[in-house]
Amino acid sequence: MLKPAAIFDPLDIMNLDLTPEQQAFRDEVRAFFVENTPQSFKARVRAGMRLEPAEFVTWQKLLHARGWGAPSWPKMYGGTGWDPTQLYIFETEASKADAPVQFHQGLELIGPIIFTFGSEAQKAKYLPAIITGDDWWCQGYSEPGAGSDLASLSTRAVRDGDHYVISGQKAWTSYAHVANRMFLLARTDPDARKQAGISLFLVDMDTPGITVRPVVTMDEIHHTNEVFLDAVRLPVTALLGEEGKGWGYGKVLLDRERGVTAATTTRLAQQLRGARAAAATARVGEGCLLDDPRIADRLAQLELEVMALEGMVMRTMAEAASGQDSGPRASMIKVRWSELLQEVTEFWTELQGYDAMHFGAVNNAPLPGPDPWAAKGMLYSRVTSIYGGSNEIQRNIIARRALGL
Ligand SMILES: Cc1cc2nc3c(=O)[nH]c(=O)nc-3n(C[C@H](O)[C@H](O)[C@H](O)COP(=O)(O)OP(=O)(O)OC[C@H]3O[C@@H](n4cnc5c(N)ncnc54)[C@H](O)[C@@H]3O)c2cc1C
Repeated sequence: MLKPAAIFDPLDIMNLDLTPEQQAFRDEVRAFFVENTPQSFKARVRAGMRLEPAEFVTWQKLLHARGWGAPSWPKMYGGTGWDPTQLYIFETEASKADAPVQFHQGLELIGPIIFTFGSEAQKAKYLPAIITGDDWWCQGYSEPGAGSDLASLSTRAVRDGDHYVISGQKAWTSYAHVANRMFLLARTDPDARKQAGISLFLVDMDTPGITVRPVVTMDEIHHTNEVFLDAVRLPVTALLGEEGKGWGYGKVLLDRERGVTAATTTRLAQQLRGARAAAATARVGEGCLLDDPRIADRLAQLELEVMALEGMVMRTMAEAASGQDSGPRASMIKVRWSELLQEVTEFWTELQGYDAMHFGAVNNAPLPGPDPWAAKGMLYSRVTSIYGGSNEIQRNIIARRALGL
């Protein structure tokens, strides 16, 4: 007899003690996700795949229409003004409905920097279009010789009257091929101490001199690019905040980027649900794979690990809400989240055996097999220990700040 797959429910497991108002809020977001998540997104979202750019825009517009376009922003900038518990409930309910995460580079990376450090004109120009989904931002930080050691970046910005002229090369720029805007770090003062000479610019991607070349990753999807900047002339109004302060703003972004992965820990439950369902439906003799105690054990172990991580995320969020510095915990969460994501998606792929290899078509064409996206999700998950500051770099931070080494 095949058993129905048990549903892994992070909210129930964490046994959150919700107030009646929070329960009403949970019911409201739950109903929204159940009614509005496009069926066609679900299998890929569950497997940890990213959606197509047009699908991200559709989803952003749906949330915007409901007034939830910027869940983590303050109300004065068009956000919801939600507190951390509401955000956590929102994320958890999204995960349970297999609803996608919002595309984060505008919303979570540059948007908050613009409303914190930008001019009034920049706020008026850029913030609304992030929330409506009309603007798509990409992040121009990494370069061929500057990834982990970002402060050694060599893209130059030279002041020329009312303009800056930018030349250099960016590497691994995700979605530069669909973005209409890029936030970019460039060196304005080559004589200053490494970090001090860097500035942050807001760039329109149709400015003459910008060339984007695709880099297809091992999941055979075009996510990322090389970007060449050949004497790109930007008005001085493209500078964000003060010249030479870009490193400080950029570091805030990197910390936030790690925080975003913390928010996405609720998503691990999606992949676990997929793995559990795969184990429950894979027939072995009279039963299914889930009857094998080794498989059940492994799933239980992963579920415990996810619960532990969620406990840590909640603690960090509570500390942040009360203004406490959570030390290197964002780095710890990033490392553990990426490791678990890789373990879970690998395990899910193993559970499917040969069926998991039913991929090979270019981009997101539908393929046969029980969970055709699981293997692509597994391959894509490799990036999580590289981007947002590689796990080795996070370990260095933990060693310094937690162990005093
Ligand atoms: C799919 C993908 C998408 C990306 N998207 C973007 C994007 O949109 N925008 C953007 O700006 N960047 C993006 N990146 C770039 C990413 O941030 C860098 O790849 C990352 O910072 C690592 O830099 P690197 O590739 O130059 O590797 P390196 O810095 O050369 O590191 C190579 C290896 O050495 C290790 N290492 C380096 N320094 C140390 C050290 N001090 N101690 C211990 N180990 C160390 C690293 O952990 C790594 O394993 C993306 C990368 C990928 C793969």
